[in-house]
Amino acid sequence: MSGIYVHIPFCSRRCNYCDFFFTTNTKLTDDFLISLDKEIQIHSASIPNQKFDTIFFGGGTPSILTGNQLLGIINRLRETFDITEDAEMSLEANPEDLTNEKIRELYSAGVNRLSIGVQSFIDSELQFLTRHHTSSIAGDVVKNSLDVLDNVSIDIIYSLPSQRAEDIIVSIDKAKVMGVKHISAYTLTYEDKTLLTKSANEGKIIRNTPEHEATLYETVSKEIISRGFRQYEVSNFAIPGYESRHNKKYWKLLPYLGLGPSAHSFIGNRRWNNLKSVGKYCELVNSRKLPIENDYELNEQQLQSDFIMLALRAEGINFTEYKKRFGKSFEVYNKRAIGELVQNGFAELSNDSFRLSTKGYAVADEIIARYF
Ligand code: SF4
Repeated sequence: MSGIYVHIPFCSRRCNYCDFFFTTNTKLTDDFLISLDKEIQIHSASIPNQKFDTIFFGGGTPSILTGNQLLGIINRLRETFDITEDAEMSLEANPEDLTNEKIRELYSAGVNRLSIGVQSFIDSELQFLTRHHTSSIAGDVVKNSLDVLDNVSIDIIYSLPSQRAEDIIVSIDKAKVMGVKHISAYTLTYEDKTLLTKSANEGKIIRNTPEHEATLYETVSKEIISRGFRQYEVSNFAIPGYESRHNKKYWKLLPYLGLGPSAHSFIGNRRWNNLKSVGKYCELVNSRKLPIENDYELNEQQLQSDFIMLALRAEGINFTEYKKRFGKSFEVYNKRAIGELVQNGFAELSNDSFRLSTKGYAVADEIIARYF
């Protein structure tokens, strides 16, 4: 089964750490929606034989859309593609957009999973991240969302300068007590050209050292796991049964179609991504051209590397699945690496699989670069 990702490229304001593609020019929303509809129609001919069981609205801020606008997109997707009745439909939302009325509108439109950008339940941390909501608004919104739909995830950002482990635990605890089913916990990253990075470069804020970050990572993982969540990716934890079906497609190298500016797709052995400009996106799609910026075919070697990299950052390599896909034994080809990583506590080995431990996840990128 395949997934559909729809990028909604609008935000009301820029958060200081963000480098996602979006514009604050929300006047373009109507034009964008018309173009998105056209992009869907163009793909109806170019994407044959795919059955979809997930739709993910990401951004930007998808919760900027009204329930009716969202319903229009979902209806068009359903008319155009073969989408299962029980498809997982996730939507990323900012707390300040989620009035009770909006939550019900989204649910009526078909959204059955909300991923709320809470980031923290501590006001000073939210202020540092230049978020527009308060911890009390975030708490109310999570509670109200859980009253309407069961499948609610929150994002948490940690490793803020001078943040203590006990501060992060406040947010984790609150999420658990409220009955949140999924937590995505990300370390604060300093991306190029963000205001946050500028402040760090000017010495106004002090970044945590990689060693301190790794310690915080292990603490956060252990604290979340100890509250009944299962870690199924470097940054993602779910109460069993509430894993994101859509995100698992990325990590298992399964097909997905991306729509909207900057969206990425992977179908067959082909990867492509749309360009990052709402204006150019609309212009191209309106002249019935796909708004693709890069497009390439992965060879067998690249597919294997991607598969290993993504699997190790998630639930690990299943030996039978690997052999079926690539005709080789992962465990035979990588015997030395597996032995060393297991011996040093970075990974775990069972009869039919190999996966990183919490200690291994903390340095997953280094392990992948060094051993695979
Ligand atoms: S709301 Fe999300 S996408 Fe928009 S600026 Fe903030 S972090 Fe970036």
